[in-house]
Amino acid sequence: MSRITPLVRPNIASLAPYSTARDEYDGPIGIFLDANESPYENGYNRYPDPHQAELKARIGGIKGIPVKNLFLGNGSDEAIDLVFRIFCEPGRDNAVIMAPSYGMYGVAAAINDVAVHSVRLDADFNLDSEELLGACDARTKVIFLCSPNNPSGNAFELKQLLDICDRFPGIVVVDEAYADFSEKGSLAKEATVRENLIVLQTLSKARAMAGLRIGLAISSEEIIRLMSMVKYPYNLSRAAMEKAFLFLENTIDNEVNTIINERKRLASALPRFPFVQKVFPSDANFILVRVDDADALYDYLLDKGIIVRNRTRVPGCTGCLRLTVGLPAENQALLNALDSYTV
Ligand SMILES: *Cc1c(COP(=O)(O)O)cnc(C)c1O
Repeated sequence: MSRITPLVRPNIASLAPYSTARDEYDGPIGIFLDANESPYENGYNRYPDPHQAELKARIGGIKGIPVKNLFLGNGSDEAIDLVFRIFCEPGRDNAVIMAPSYGMYGVAAAINDVAVHSVRLDADFNLDSEELLGACDARTKVIFLCSPNNPSGNAFELKQLLDICDRFPGIVVVDEAYADFSEKGSLAKEATVRENLIVLQTLSKARAMAGLRIGLAISSEEIIRLMSMVKYPYNLSRAAMEKAFLFLENTIDNEVNTIINERKRLASALPRFPFVQKVFPSDANFILVRVDDADALYDYLLDKGIIVRNRTRVPGCTGCLRLTVGLPAENQALLNALDSYTV
């Protein structure tokens, strides 16, 4: 028995998953009268591959991750929800998250009736490992970490994240949605050789496919098997998989480099504005800034047709706006608008 087995909810451990028509027959092309599909071909009349073999092989190849360690979901949000459904007994177990961080951990926990203990990051959004582990109790099944963190933008040292994995007996999820923009690296490969680590990545950000809804989880074979068993059988559509396969032909190096350079340009231009109090260092494709009056600046930019994210009501982010790095001309338009802002 692995150390993961006792963490799994009993109803999941004993689950007999739905067996699709395509699970029961995946031989050569024949006359398919098994899945109640329409026989009239239009490219989408057949159900998609529930195992997503082609897309997984492609993504695994790009990332250097064996297919057995790879789960594909309807966005990484699906993977977040599955972690709660697999490991957390509703009304009994809890998860520990850091604050501020990505809102979906708390929402998915609430939907699954799982309590959440939040651990506040410090004023510069550093994480105190002792405080984090101290917030865990006997019913804590999962710790959610986000690196680079949303909305603060900073990435944590891999060493700190791995130390938490080593010391916590439950599941550690590290959400790397923005890892492509970070110089601090990724734990994806580590997640294939550790029992309790799940790394989340996504095609939504650097890969420019937010509209396709494809997220990745990288973990041990055992956890990937559980996630694949609990997901909806056809959680990725044929259309999304085809498009993603096509788009994965494109290299993203130029786009990512441009976004990183633009992030640096914004980060050095922003402190010059008298109403900017602090520009937080970012390893992502956005910058968190603290300004004199976040609501007023937000409304001003909105009036100019520039939409940013107002985070002033998020604990730890008082006075803060989150600025996504856009195209060079869009970032220039933002700087021009700030130039003409008079408090
Ligand atoms: C954007 C984002 C995601 C991606 O979610 P998808 O469902 O894959 O689009 C995941 N985690 C964080 C922290 C994010 O900001």
